[in-house]
Amino acid sequence: MPSLAKNKSKSLKPKKVALKNGHKNGHKNGIKVSAKTAILKKAGKVAKRTFFFGGGKAEGTKEMKNLLGGKGANLAEMANIGLPVPPGFTITTDVCTEFYAGGKKLPKALGDDIRAQIARMEKVVGAKFGDAKNPMLVSVRSGARASMPGMMDTILNLGLNDTTAAGLAAKSGNERFAYDSYRRFIAMYGDVVLGLKPEKKEDHDPFDEILAAKKKARGVKLDSELPADALKELVAEFKAEIKNRLGVDFPNDPYAQLEGAIKAVFQSWQNDRANLYRRLNNIPAEWGTAVNVQAMVFGNKGADSATGVCFTRDPASGENVFYGEFLVNAQGEDVVAGIRTPEKIEALGNVLPKAYKQLLDIRKKLEKHYKEMQDIEFTIENGTLYMLQCRNGKRTGFAGVRIAVEMVDEKLISKEEALRRVEPEALNQLLRPVFLPAAKKKAIEEGRLLAKGLPAGPGAATGKVVFFADEAEALAAKGETNLILCRHETSPEDIRGMNASLGFMTAFGGMTSHAALVARQMGKVCIVGCDALSFDYHARTMTVTTAQGEVVVKEGDWISIDGFAGEVINGRVDTTPSEVIRVLIEKNLDAKEAPVYARYAKLMSWADAARRLRVRANADQPDQSEAAVAFGAEGIGLCRTEHMFFGEGKIGPMREMIVAENEADRRAALDKLLPLQREDFAGIFRAMKGRPVTIRTLDPPLHEFLPHDEAGVRDLARDTGKSVEAIQERIHDLKESNPMLGHRGCRLGITYPEITEMQARAVFEAAVDVSKEGIEVFPEIMIPLVGTKKELDLQAAIVRKAAADVFAARGKKVGYMVGTMIEIPRAALTADQIAETAEFFSFGTNDLTQMTFGLSRDDVPRVLAAYQAQDIYQVDPFVSVDRQGVGSLMKTAASLGRGVKPKLKLGICGEHGGDPSSVEFCNEIGLDYVSCSPYRLPIARLAAAQAALKQ
Ligand code: ADP
Ligand code: MG
Ligand code: MG
Repeated sequence: MPSLAKNKSKSLKPKKVALKNGHKNGHKNGIKVSAKTAILKKAGKVAKRTFFFGGGKAEGTKEMKNLLGGKGANLAEMANIGLPVPPGFTITTDVCTEFYAGGKKLPKALGDDIRAQIARMEKVVGAKFGDAKNPMLVSVRSGARASMPGMMDTILNLGLNDTTAAGLAAKSGNERFAYDSYRRFIAMYGDVVLGLKPEKKEDHDPFDEILAAKKKARGVKLDSELPADALKELVAEFKAEIKNRLGVDFPNDPYAQLEGAIKAVFQSWQNDRANLYRRLNNIPAEWGTAVNVQAMVFGNKGADSATGVCFTRDPASGENVFYGEFLVNAQGEDVVAGIRTPEKIEALGNVLPKAYKQLLDIRKKLEKHYKEMQDIEFTIENGTLYMLQCRNGKRTGFAGVRIAVEMVDEKLISKEEALRRVEPEALNQLLRPVFLPAAKKKAIEEGRLLAKGLPAGPGAATGKVVFFADEAEALAAKGETNLILCRHETSPEDIRGMNASLGFMTAFGGMTSHAALVARQMGKVCIVGCDALSFDYHARTMTVTTAQGEVVVKEGDWISIDGFAGEVINGRVDTTPSEVIRVLIEKNLDAKEAPVYARYAKLMSWADAARRLRVRANADQPDQSEAAVAFGAEGIGLCRTEHMFFGEGKIGPMREMIVAENEADRRAALDKLLPLQREDFAGIFRAMKGRPVTIRTLDPPLHEFLPHDEAGVRDLARDTGKSVEAIQERIHDLKESNPMLGHRGCRLGITYPEITEMQARAVFEAAVDVSKEGIEVFPEIMIPLVGTKKELDLQAAIVRKAAADVFAARGKKVGYMVGTMIEIPRAALTADQIAETAEFFSFGTNDLTQMTFGLSRDDVPRVLAAYQAQDIYQVDPFVSVDRQGVGSLMKTAASLGRGVKPKLKLGICGEHGGDPSSVEFCNEIGLDYVSCSPYRLPIARLAAAQAALKQ
């Protein structure tokens, strides 16, 4: 679009340029504009590329996020509901697609649109873009459909050059302000558009270094203390730095500046940090970003100007209080970047009372209008308030639950809406440990409390200090799980390392800083604004100023951070379970004294009322079963009997059984195992009190139970009276080249029927015994790894005979079922035959995924990164069910099975049972239940409710 700089045509008429490449999957979910776009396209007209807002109205609305991006849609909405929004226009996300499709070129016709929209802005503002006497400045802001804060770029004060800067100084009568704006513009443009960045990670931003030197030379601490002539010098020095380092001149023509900025924002959609953020948050690359060009308002005009960021409720705790920060005489991201430590929003009431009152009104108005907690950005210019952004605020899991539940109590939203809003994964945070009160008290008494900062991410974390995000990432890749990332401040480049850490803390920045924001989103423990810390990245130390003097913390030292209280403690501190765990599992806290638990319980009761899917747990011990019931399990979906064999006293006879050379010896060993298994099952039946318990017969290959070291082999030889050589030979015999596809599952029971027989006897004996105690029981025996009907027939016959024998011998019957796992593709494809014998199916989606992809779960890490980077797998198929492949087999099996037995009970017991997207799929294809680990049950219950509400 070089045309933009030269072509002076003011024509508003859109040129007839067809969209080269519309969005592949269109804007499916939404919405009027896409329909409109489609209609326009059919009529041979060009889709509208820019949408105006300002002067009390707008061409867009909040529903148009897909086309205008979140920021653009909400700017339009705020203008429409009468909030003070500086005028501007949004270039659509479709233009971003055009930009990439056309080889990173802006469509030709866009130039005319932009000129027309700039003219409309000029009318509202009463100033002219590029004018020497009365210049209008603009910001160029990114804005995707889903908010990606800080991931892409923004440029402020665009339109300044030596002429317009002089004009701005004269017109405003404020030279300091004009050159403050100018030096900021050059630094931002130099970084974002021209690409002048720090060279090494230990280096500071080149413009920041020049600024720091200037402050030092002038003997001031804050940038707001620099006088006009110093700022003028900075302008020249910044330009010289650009010329020296990059060999280019800073562009003077405002339209050339604008073109460069728009392209840079489109390009920032594909920068590293945006790409990673998208991957972490499942945002498709083809969405594209919109660009907002907006008239500048200035928070850096002096003591009656300010800029700030607020939340309509506390984003960490969820409490219904106005929450935010501001800085007087500052611009843009100063608050977020921690240039100066910002003030709490209440203090604005003393400084600029009129604007503060207006802001409080807007807080109310926005919550009423959006019925959701809003994150807002504002600027005050000479006492007048302007709104620059609003969006649904990111929040911690604690805040998510609290806000949703309280908004129902306030009658702002319905229960269903509350359920839709809470991110199922976020419930994890409510189960996370906190510091053991006694341990923390002791640490403080020992003088180990180092510092206090702002509590930005609730929870407790104890770990080793690491100072660089890339190193945190590398350590985590080597299996180091206890890392606390400590930095002066964090930036979007750090997100990988932040993700790899248990928690993080910063010396600078407030509750709206980057670190705080990421913590809320990732659910990490976090402390920000801990100004007692100072960093020496070269020496890899952090010095903390305490009342007793300075403490130096080195890389690798242990520290503990309390994200509820904002406290940093030297060394390790033991943790204790959360309120929810203490009420439900440990039963040492009264529910009445546990407000976090009370809100959790309320939300869960709504979820239970809304969901159709039942939830079960994967558990194989009585205590796990009790935990499962406390978390809402309606049964056990998978009891892995092999886990029991590793329990006390059981591994010996198990090994004896495996090395036995004939059936009689095997039976002798099995006879020793039987009473032990029976006791395990009895414990589970007692804990489950009549809820169904699905017990899987032995599944893993036998070599997994044998000793792998010499000493173990010698012991086993001694215990079984066999020679060391004989044991070694047996181990050699059992070794498999591909154990995933080897002698395991029902193949064990087919070759050694006495194993299945023993297990079935143990189950039924336990069932009858427990039912004689007056406790209801309902066992479901599940045969693993079935691929043919005949396998199931043979195993089912053994189980049924064992049942009949036990019932006859003990003089009592109990109800039971025999079913199978569907985890081999052949079983899914012949499910109609298998359903003739099976009384239920449970999808073993771990194995089904392995076999469908021909890729073992243990080998996935070798390829996953490359596969995701190239978009071969959008998500790890072992985390979320692959709907196209694995899912299609599941659907086939379900319909073939129910074709034979319409009421056939269907469930899932793979790891996927606790994954929200997979739960949604299971609901869609009509399964009866999902089963997952006990601690994921709250997530599954909520996900099941959301799935039901969606249908
Ligand atoms: P991000 O998407 O990273 O939040 P924004 O586009 O919101 O980036 O820009 C960052 C900040 O720049 C805003 O919070 C606001 O303070 C400032 N800003 C953007 N546009 C303007 C404007 N037209 N006038 C004044 N300040 C602006
Ligand atoms: Mg913003
Ligand atoms: Mg399996």
